[in-house]
Amino acid sequence: MTELSREERDVVATVRTFVDREVRPVVRALEHADTYPEALVERMKQLGVFGLAVPEPWGEAPVSMPCYALVTAELARGWMSLAGAMGGHTVVAKLLVAFGTREQQDRWLPRMATGEVRATMALTEPGGGSDLQAMTTVARRDGDGDGYVVDGAKTWITNSRRSQLIALLCKTDPAAQPRHRGVSVLLVEHGPGLTVSRDLPKLGYKGVESCELVFDGYRAPADAVLGGVEGRGFAQMMTGLETGRIQVAARAVGVAQAAFDDALRYAQQRESFGRPIWQHQSVGNLLADMATSLTAARQLVLHAAERYESGQRCNLEAGMAKLFASETAMRIALDAIRVHGGHGYSTEFDVERYFRDAPLMIVGEGTNEIQRDVIARQLVARGGLD
Ligand SMILES: Cc1cc2nc3c(=O)[nH]c(=O)nc-3n(C[C@H](O)[C@H](O)[C@H](O)COP(=O)(O)OP(=O)(O)OC[C@H]3O[C@@H](n4cnc5c(N)ncnc54)[C@H](O)[C@@H]3O)c2cc1C
Repeated sequence: MTELSREERDVVATVRTFVDREVRPVVRALEHADTYPEALVERMKQLGVFGLAVPEPWGEAPVSMPCYALVTAELARGWMSLAGAMGGHTVVAKLLVAFGTREQQDRWLPRMATGEVRATMALTEPGGGSDLQAMTTVARRDGDGDGYVVDGAKTWITNSRRSQLIALLCKTDPAAQPRHRGVSVLLVEHGPGLTVSRDLPKLGYKGVESCELVFDGYRAPADAVLGGVEGRGFAQMMTGLETGRIQVAARAVGVAQAAFDDALRYAQQRESFGRPIWQHQSVGNLLADMATSLTAARQLVLHAAERYESGQRCNLEAGMAKLFASETAMRIALDAIRVHGGHGYSTEFDVERYFRDAPLMIVGEGTNEIQRDVIARQLVARGGLD
């Protein structure tokens, strides 16, 4: 059972109140207008949400991974897009804390903690996101060896128009064998040679932008390599993705919670054949199954978060949490539509949004097919479940 400190329980409660009072009343309008939630993001800055992963001396209020997961779930319960607005940001903060040079940490982390600087990560390319080692974005040492020239393209990069810092996964040695030894993370900013070429139209995850980025002769300084040493980027990013997968799993829990809450409420209000519909066994069974799988998903997320907090690698646990929670969110979102009948298909209710948002957690941060692959490899490497 996860035990948060009193301070951490207060953090989660503060975000829950924010979601209930300030997010849920406006979310449907923002969603359908596909409006960037400027005011809500400002409030998230004030609440310290962007600094949750930044420790002293750069930040003030870092929280444990279980607390971070619960905050993420609360935000996603209000609007998955809000959790998305701080997801990549947190992964980049964790990367800087774990691997950055002191200079990189001092430069970026204080402003990331306040949300003044927001960060995202750029991994996926038009040619594919699952096989990252096949990436074609290359950073070559420029003529006088005083920096890099970057060429290539990335796609689906969320928050990239509004993020000042982009953790770019690219090849600094395209000929390296094994291929991952030629991969580095470059800390890049917007500037000449980097074009945000397109905002991609999406099924859900509205409000926040997911874009194509084109690097064409973009120049990055020599000290842009995360940690200052080339060839470590793949391993660094795989560690970062453990945070990312816990974050995505927590988002799924938040969406599933919202869908379940709406279904439970509606099933008590709506009547047919002279009684509330929850009293029809088929509907009651849906609610029972939703609550059971939601509780299991939440526990898996907390299990992964606790493992992370213990300082151990948690790729197996984060993969299982992400796989189960996202598939659960999808099923619960569909079942919430069933419970709502025709209203479930209406854009005047929220359940259709959960149904559009849920698939992202199946695909994002490594698809669930890739998660199964990670899980199977880890099971063999660890000799089974602990
Ligand atoms: C809304 C949205 C936001 C996103 N935000 C970001 C972001 O901020 N930064 C970022 O870098 N990326 C982001 N992504 C990209 C996302 O991470 C990729 O879409 C995802 O990793 C899958 O890559 P792909 O789309 O190229 O699919 P592909 O790699 O082309 O895969 C296609 C299908 O083949 C399957 N497949 C591929 N290889 C294997 C294998 N070895 N075994 C089994 N099945 C396999 C996949 O599971 C999938 O079903 C975002 C995507 C979306 C939709």
